[in-house]
Amino acid sequence: MIHTKLFLAGPTEVSDEMFQAMSHPMIGHRSKDYQALHESVVKKLRRFIGTTHEIFIFTSSATGVMEAAVRNCVRGKILHTVCGAFSERWVDISRACGKVVETVDVPFGKAVRPELVASELASDSIGGRQAATLQLPRDDGYRFDAVAITHNETSSGVMNPLNDLCETVRRVQPDALIFVDAVSSFGGSIIKPDEWGIDVLIFGTQKCLALPPGLAFAVVSPRAMVRSQEMTDKGYYFDFIEMKKYADKNMTPATPAISLLFGVDAQLDRMLAEGMEGRAVRHQDMAMLAQEWVARHHLPFTAEEGFRSPTVTSISVPEGFNSDEFRKKVKEKGYALADGYGKLKGKGFRIGHMGDWKVEDVGELLRVMDKVINSSSKK
Ligand SMILES: *Cc1c(COP(=O)(O)O)cnc(C)c1O
Repeated sequence: MIHTKLFLAGPTEVSDEMFQAMSHPMIGHRSKDYQALHESVVKKLRRFIGTTHEIFIFTSSATGVMEAAVRNCVRGKILHTVCGAFSERWVDISRACGKVVETVDVPFGKAVRPELVASELASDSIGGRQAATLQLPRDDGYRFDAVAITHNETSSGVMNPLNDLCETVRRVQPDALIFVDAVSSFGGSIIKPDEWGIDVLIFGTQKCLALPPGLAFAVVSPRAMVRSQEMTDKGYYFDFIEMKKYADKNMTPATPAISLLFGVDAQLDRMLAEGMEGRAVRHQDMAMLAQEWVARHHLPFTAEEGFRSPTVTSISVPEGFNSDEFRKKVKEKGYALADGYGKLKGKGFRIGHMGDWKVEDVGELLRVMDKVINSSSKK
């Protein structure tokens, strides 16, 4: 099979070194060797993030942990900020878990503004009569148990102003927990869960961590742990309290994807050497180069200016530009681009510049894209 270099919005390219680290002989998940591996991963992650919160390791994709946040911490009502396909998916998850959902929606390609969230939080939008019929579990049933924020909306290439949004929630409704989907931004941007008051921070292995899919992580605040303790009917596999019982012994309740953990342990050495700031700068530099390319070819960005993602650039192609054909030709030269997402499927494409890629690699990709565009315009 020919090796295609992945510039997808996940999964991302995995280096030979990481595949080597993951080929470590298997170990038992109740052994001292496993405990040492688990402890090492959690310690390194803790250092990379600079957090004192709990760190849980789940053998599932990140969507599982999005559901975990809802099941562990939402008694009645949750406010979702919605700006694209992944934030919409989180709404579906909350509804499927039987929660009362309200949304703050912005058009596709726009970022969620803190003012919008503030006014939604401040208003009794559900109304007394409705609240009574819904029989919310608290007497002040108007309030939200949690606010869900998608940091980097991978479908539109928008990065929401996370710190400002968290600050707004804490100011207007301090008792609402803050959930953050950082699946396509963790490891490629600055995120400070303790300082910003993030109660459940979610990410997985196959985006900026540049590892195969299969593991996901939750960074969980003391407030969220208290909430989970009080919750009933939260299911079994994703229960934070059960996770903590085992995490305290450097284990997981069920058998984890051990091979992947060897990869995470190795990758975290590189991440610590580069640092969160270093990685944020590198991803921003890659994004700048991709954005220059889009501007040079007079193609329309999907994401509004000022909120374009450092990890993924989405292009909504104009009439007459066959993006499927374009991606096919780029792929024939050995580089995979992502399709447009949702309504942009077949009507746009995305460049995932995340993980281990460097600015030079993005440059190489863009030169290939130039060649494809130039050769097709000559015909
Ligand atoms: C990829 C992605 C997800 C889904 O993650 P899975 O690991 O596929 O479950 C969720 N949110 C965002 C923002 C993503 O980019």
